[in-house]
Amino acid sequence: MSVHPSPALRSLPTSQPADQAAVRRSNLALVLRHLGARGSRSRAGIAADTGLNKATVSSLVAELVERGLVREGEPHRAGSVGRPGRGVELDGRRVGGIGVEINVDYLTALVLDLTKTVLFEQRVALDVQALPPEEVLDAVAELTSRAVRECARRGVLPVGVTIAIPALVDVEGGVVAFAPNLHWRDVPVVRGMTDRLAGLLARYPMPVRMANDANLGALGEYAMGGVAGTPDLVYLAGEIGVGGGVIVGGRLLGGAEGFSGEIGHIQLDPAGPDCGCGRRGCWETLVGMAGMLRLAADADDPVSDPSLDLEQRMDMIRRRAETGDRRTLDALGKVGAGLGVGASILINVFNPGVVVLGGYFASLGPFLLGPMTAELRARVIAPDIGGCRVELSRLGFAAASRGGANVALEAVLDDPALVPLLSAARSSG
Ligand SMILES: [Zn+2]
Repeated sequence: MSVHPSPALRSLPTSQPADQAAVRRSNLALVLRHLGARGSRSRAGIAADTGLNKATVSSLVAELVERGLVREGEPHRAGSVGRPGRGVELDGRRVGGIGVEINVDYLTALVLDLTKTVLFEQRVALDVQALPPEEVLDAVAELTSRAVRECARRGVLPVGVTIAIPALVDVEGGVVAFAPNLHWRDVPVVRGMTDRLAGLLARYPMPVRMANDANLGALGEYAMGGVAGTPDLVYLAGEIGVGGGVIVGGRLLGGAEGFSGEIGHIQLDPAGPDCGCGRRGCWETLVGMAGMLRLAADADDPVSDPSLDLEQRMDMIRRRAETGDRRTLDALGKVGAGLGVGASILINVFNPGVVVLGGYFASLGPFLLGPMTAELRARVIAPDIGGCRVELSRLGFAAASRGGANVALEAVLDDPALVPLLSAARSSG
């Protein structure tokens, strides 16, 4: 798996004299990211790869070891002769990034360490639409506390919480401006969470952030999905609605106010069904999970029951499709074709290398890909769909929480000095 320089690192000035402490911090980040991307390396190897001199690399590595982010690894033989150099490698055990997802009928919390290993993951079914935001935040805070306590139990320092939510998010203010499928407007989620977690945050000071779930899903796919590192990527998440994230040239497309990616509300049928956003015939009314379930099952069918686990419900639908159930197959055929109609617009605009299908699109992908691809071939103007592949997410419903945990870890990779020295952590108890 590869690690890519973050936009922050890339935008550091390279030719102007900068303040020495800032140079040191950016060099710490350079070495840490390099080890993340390349695995175990000798100090001499790091110096050769990065262009830093060997004395500087030794000093930087020593500091990263003191911060618990790097450890001595296996002996490293540079050539076939000579004394093997001692390698150093990323030490994932010190810090954990926490990703939390609020969705229409479930909550998830997840902890990833610096090597992207999952230390904790829990999903609970919750009918979020039926509850006032305050009660939902109580449940989110409880689940987040469990993740923090699991970090503490393992001796892992939590370095940030990122909340993923299907909403237009004012990222700076930490406010949900509008979440059509949750029926939330102007909800100060980040303040609500920092209030509820005040005790834990006093003990483990860390930022609480929030972002659109599909944007975080796109970042999760880019960081650790099956197509990680694909610089031009469109991510489509099939949830109750349809969210999307667009990565262009290795960067998430944010837009002027950070509201980009609302592709579920591209209007495909002006006379179509009512959408949660107050308009009609939006793409998500045709291919979102709610639309799919209306076609595939009656309202009292267990697959439509939001109190059951989502994966279980999707398994039921997949089994029906596999056994040739006509209604299910017709529904999935329509949804697949509808996916192709909407995705062709995005492919015509962005010419991505890959479209990743996440959420329930991934669970039922084998039944959606055929009709989707047929529509793409008919509608994308570039030859051979502009070279675009359609891939099913391996992260599934977990992409957004992984993207969120990654955002917290990226902050450490950008500035390893955010993590206190082990000696300081010990002396403060
Ligand atoms: Zn809409």
